[in-house]
Amino acid sequence: MDESKIAPCGMNCGLCISKQSKKYNLNNKGFKKTYCSGCLSSGIKCNLKHYCDRLDRGLLRYCYECNQYPCSKLKALDKRYRTKYHMSMLENLEFIKAHGIQEFLKKEQDKWQCPKCGRLICCHNGLCLSCNLDRLLQNKKYSWAEE
Ligand SMILES: [Zn+2]
Repeated sequence: MDESKIAPCGMNCGLCISKQSKKYNLNNKGFKKTYCSGCLSSGIKCNLKHYCDRLDRGLLRYCYECNQYPCSKLKALDKRYRTKYHMSMLENLEFIKAHGIQEFLKKEQDKWQCPKCGRLICCHNGLCLSCNLDRLLQNKKYSWAEE
């Protein structure tokens, strides 16, 4: 995992369904999803970047550098992800601020690694899309359901 996968809002793009769909070419395997290369890829505007002027202008690497941090948009995003996707943008950003990006990347690897194949679990459904793709294909809305 490298630093470029971590979006300004603290999202780890490596865990995202749109990024993993592209990586595993899931459109060809029966799962239709818009592909995304990650928030920092040129021309791509993520959820938050889409409506944050300061991110659009490339003024910030991470949202915590902003004088409006944490803004209401980031807080709303964080709440949604804490509630549904087992992660927190604000927690991620605070960790990066306190311990640096390298420590954060190590922690993410430990937290999200699939015990079987070592790839990253997808935060949007809790599945390894390499080992457990069949579950997603059986239920395309599968979301951390059978914990
Ligand atoms: Zn796996």
